[in-house]
Amino acid sequence: MAKITVSKSAGFCFGVNRAVQMVYQALEEGKKVATLGPIIHNTDVVNDMIARGARIIDDVSELEPGEHVVIRSHGVGSRIYEEIAQRGNPVIDATCPFVSRIHKIAAEKTREGYFILIAGDENHPEVQGIVGHCDENSFVFKDQFVLKDYFDKNPQKKLAIISQTTYNNIIWGECLKVLPEDDPNIVVYDTICTATEQRQTDTAALAKKSDLMIVIGGRHSSNTVKLYDICSQYCRTYHIENADELDTLDLSNAEHIGITAGASTPAHIIKEVVTTMEEILNKDNNQEEEFDFAQAVDESFKKLHTGARVKGIVMSVNNSEVIVDLGAKQTGTVPASELTNDPSKKPADLVSVGDEIELIVTKVSDQDGMATLSKKRVDEQAGVEKVIEAKEQGTVLEAPVSAIVKGGVNVFYEGVRIFIPASQTGLPREASLDGLKGQTVKFIVIEAPERRKSAVGSIKAVNRQEKEAAKAKFWETAEIGKEYEGEVKSLTSYGAFVDLGGIDGMVHISELSWNRIKHPSQVVSVGDVLKVYIKNLDQENDRISLGYKKAEDNPWEKFKANYEVGDIVDAKIVSVTSFGAFAQIIDGIDGLIHISQLADRRVENVKDVVAVGDTVTVKITNIDMDSKRISLSMREAMDDADYEDEADED
Ligand code: SF4
Repeated sequence: MAKITVSKSAGFCFGVNRAVQMVYQALEEGKKVATLGPIIHNTDVVNDMIARGARIIDDVSELEPGEHVVIRSHGVGSRIYEEIAQRGNPVIDATCPFVSRIHKIAAEKTREGYFILIAGDENHPEVQGIVGHCDENSFVFKDQFVLKDYFDKNPQKKLAIISQTTYNNIIWGECLKVLPEDDPNIVVYDTICTATEQRQTDTAALAKKSDLMIVIGGRHSSNTVKLYDICSQYCRTYHIENADELDTLDLSNAEHIGITAGASTPAHIIKEVVTTMEEILNKDNNQEEEFDFAQAVDESFKKLHTGARVKGIVMSVNNSEVIVDLGAKQTGTVPASELTNDPSKKPADLVSVGDEIELIVTKVSDQDGMATLSKKRVDEQAGVEKVIEAKEQGTVLEAPVSAIVKGGVNVFYEGVRIFIPASQTGLPREASLDGLKGQTVKFIVIEAPERRKSAVGSIKAVNRQEKEAAKAKFWETAEIGKEYEGEVKSLTSYGAFVDLGGIDGMVHISELSWNRIKHPSQVVSVGDVLKVYIKNLDQENDRISLGYKKAEDNPWEKFKANYEVGDIVDAKIVSVTSFGAFAQIIDGIDGLIHISQLADRRVENVKDVVAVGDTVTVKITNIDMDSKRISLSMREAMDDADYEDEADED
């Protein structure tokens, strides 16, 4: 019983698929559509488009006003674009990105003074389109012999060599051998499409191990004809357009039958061919076979399943989607919204043509040969695992705040959205969160992501951890007398709190000044940096008492050094009481003038003699350093003055 194998890269390539999708989309949107030539070499698909209202035209002169003209994947020359622009018809440009790249090279090199040599079929529309970007400055060669002939007949000049995307890569290799080695005037661009190359390589490998090859595709499809040529080198080969032609073929004497298909062949036609072959071969054998064709088909097609994880090569990137080659029958598209959750990133920021990326299949359509994929889900899966691990291990993560949202802020870590509630930002209640936007923050995960819920993070918890660590470090080295430099964080009526590097100590109001003050703000402000020292420690209650006054500033020391009992000094009345008045001798040192010492007569009321602010002459009559009390006397000062006056008169 024959074994059927379908080449893994048989069928629609992404460029053709893209063009077909663009036409169907325009028709679905109710647009009047005319394709400039058949969109693909497949009569079934073309007839279906016509049935849905599309027209096929050969020349732009056939366009009707307002009709959308579709430029097919082969592309066209610059003159055609100009003609359409003159007519004012809207363009749906389905030129394959690989072909557009060749147009760009051709135009640029022409401008740079190169002559363009194009490997390909001069009658093929793609080649004619390329020629149309060379400003009549090109020559098309079909093989190495024509190329050699060109070199023999033409004097050397600056040459740029490119190829039709569907050019045979074996002949291309032969052509390169014809070129003079290391000639700086010759630049070569390998512009054979990888889809074509892959299809040809896979087909050759399959044909080598098959007894019979069926090549499915349009009669006029050059890439299908090339597949036929390749297969014919190895085994008996038939070229068919669809399953209807199978009846006419001789499928006998073949144990291994291979199937391949050109770039314009939809997946459902390949399937139909395989199913019909199953019926024919079953009939021919007229016997019960154990071989399961359905299974053979399944095994031969590289099938994509929704939810499967696959790798793809990026083939084109634009603002709305990324096209990937999956090595499967379906062309992969990754909508921009499925690339990342981060709205600030564009597709081009994330992937480049040629990148291999991991994806998850979210939708597969065999009918239209498309697979929709998601990159962000792969990233999310990996990210989710990391976030869950970070939560379990309490790892501190870092990420910029991407958005301020209702009730908090969002950060993205490895593609995973993490919500940080306002209460976990570490900012005071009611504080604006706007300042956090764009800032890289440290956070821990306090709730792991779940199916429909994002993860929850906390900056505050990290701040707390850091504070705890700083505290532990502080207590390891803290000792009475040790000096610190710290910023005043807050003031209360009883003192100032100073940050000692993650832990606060307090300078009591009495420690802030040698003078009597009513509030710490008379001496320090929030933000001031103070030199403090530890006066007392209470680790159990996390209390640190700080000293701030310096011994050298102690006014009692200054007083002791400069004054003694018996000295006559001028002092300023600073307060008045019923029993006397306090007078300031120097800053921070007040003495008491008892009511009995205010005058040399009986005083009934202190205020009859002195008032706050008066400067009076007093005698220091007693100094009690232990109790920090100084007694003063105006009366004795007056007596001394009288005595001195009398002595002067004598
Ligand atoms: S064969 Fe390659 S170049 Fe041609 S349309 Fe397909 S993807 Fe584009």
